[in-house]
Parts: sequence; C-alpha cells; structure tokens
Amino acid sequence: MRLANLAGRASVVFDRIAFDVERASAGRFSSDPQRAFDHWDELREWGSAIDWAGDAPVKSIAVQDSALQPPAPQPRQVFGVGLNYRSHAAEANLELPSVPVIFTKFPSCLAGPFGDVPLPSDNVDWEVELVVIIGRLSRHVAEGNAWDHIAGVCVGQDISERVVQGRPPVPQFSMGKSFPSFGPFGPAIVTIDELDDPDDLDLSCSINGTQVQHARTSDLIFNVPELIAYLSSIVTLYPGDVIFTGTPSGVGGGRTPKWFLRPGDVIDSALAGVGHMKHICIAGAEYEDAIALTASAS
Ligand code: ZN
Repeated sequence: MRLANLAGRASVVFDRIAFDVERASAGRFSSDPQRAFDHWDELREWGSAIDWAGDAPVKSIAVQDSALQPPAPQPRQVFGVGLNYRSHAAEANLELPSVPVIFTKFPSCLAGPFGDVPLPSDNVDWEVELVVIIGRLSRHVAEGNAWDHIAGVCVGQDISERVVQGRPPVPQFSMGKSFPSFGPFGPAIVTIDELDDPDDLDLSCSINGTQVQHARTSDLIFNVPELIAYLSSIVTLYPGDVIFTGTPSGVGGGRTPKWFLRPGDVIDSALAGVGHMKHICIAGAEYEDAIALTASAS
C-alpha cells in the first residue's frame, strides 16, 4: 500500500490515482494523515484487501504533485542519523562511529515532496536519504523483528546549513538541519511488502540534472533494524515518528571546491521502487543579508 497526504487528507495512491481513506472506509479511518499511524496495522490490512484497480469503494482523483504534503505531517519525534555511510564519513574526514550518531530535526522543518526550499544563506547542502516511519509503539525492539515496527519508507532530504551545523564550540546539527522546508519527504509512505528487499534500495540525488549522490541502502553502516534497536533501547518510539537514516557520499560540502545550493537550483531525489521528489531553491528572506555578511568576512 502507498499512503499519501493529499491536500491534508490521508489517501491511498495506486498508479497516480488517489482514493480518500475516510470516504473509502466509510468513516472507519480518519482523514487526518497523522492519525493513520494510530491504527496502522488495521489500516494496512484494510488497504491491502481492496482491489484499488478494480472495484474501489470510492471515486478516485488524479494525484497532482503540488497537492502532496508530508506523509507524516506532525510526528512526535523526528530523528536524523549522521555519518551512516562509509563513503560519507570518508568525505567528511571523520572516523566511523561505533554507535549510531543521532540528532533531531525539529518537526517544523518538515515539508512535502514537491515545492520550494527557501535558502537562508549560501551554505546550504543536499543530503538524500532513506526515511522510515514508525508504525508501532516501540521500546527495546530486537533487530530480528524491527521491520515489523516500520509503517513504511519514503525518500527524504536532510537539507543542511553547514555553517550553523558546525558552529563552535560544539556542532549544532539539530539547528543547522531545521530551517523551514529542510526536511522534505514523500511522495507517499510505501509499505514494506511493496519492496523486493527493504534493506537494499537504490538511492540517488541530482542537482540541475547532474547526479551528485548514488548509493544502495545496503551500504548503511547501521541498517534500519540496527537503528530501531538502538533508538528504542533509549527512547520510546511512537507511531508516526520519522527517522532520516543518513546520507551517502556526494554532498556539496565534501567537494573541492565546495558546492552549495543557489536560488534557482533544482534538487531531484529518488528512491527506486518508492518514488521521487523535486524541489526548487529560492532565496529566503535572510539570504541577501547572509551572503553580504559572507562577502565582507572574506
Ligand atoms: Zn543527514
């Protein structure tokens, strides 16, 4: 099943056609996309039993990209994972972590799979990532059944302002990665049964049509089961929580010279078998002041 947030309403998507969950279920399930995770197993079972191509119980509408909003718009918690691909740790000149490196992206940074990304400065970087959404209350989950606790997966961008992220005396990942629209994900939540191998997905990112990142999620240092086991050994994970699992090599900050986003740049992000996103960078309200400051400092 593929579940999207279409103009604020939970919608099953099949072949770019959307079916309203509340109407199709005759009110059994809420139209609120975040409430979908309160009864995820029941919702998935219901959605999987319907032949959406044939006798769907409700009128369908075509999916307009611009109407797609974040599939989990109001999670209680949003986690990010740093340095989770060997290739990315190498380009960042940092040692491989012995436990997952965890930070948060504040929920106000979440955004839909198509739209604008306002740049607050000229130090903004891309990070394409596999995003997983929690489907069950999770505490002390064993790796062996961790996928059972995942509602589904999306493609996401952990967009990062590198100067704020690295500000001394200690890096502030959560701030540098939480400007508005710095956490887009989508286009829909894809359940695990739709994927051949959820631990080996093809992930890629292009800027203005040039591919800059390409990896398989089987290259993750800490794979999804290990991340769920580790996170749930410390914090309680709630249904609808969102986890950005880390980015592979190819970010702009790891290049010589560095390559950061500019107004007008187009970010294409893709996770094979799941979907793609497209974002256009625009100058944020503070952009002109920020680049004047950079120019006067150098
Ligand atoms: Zn990241």
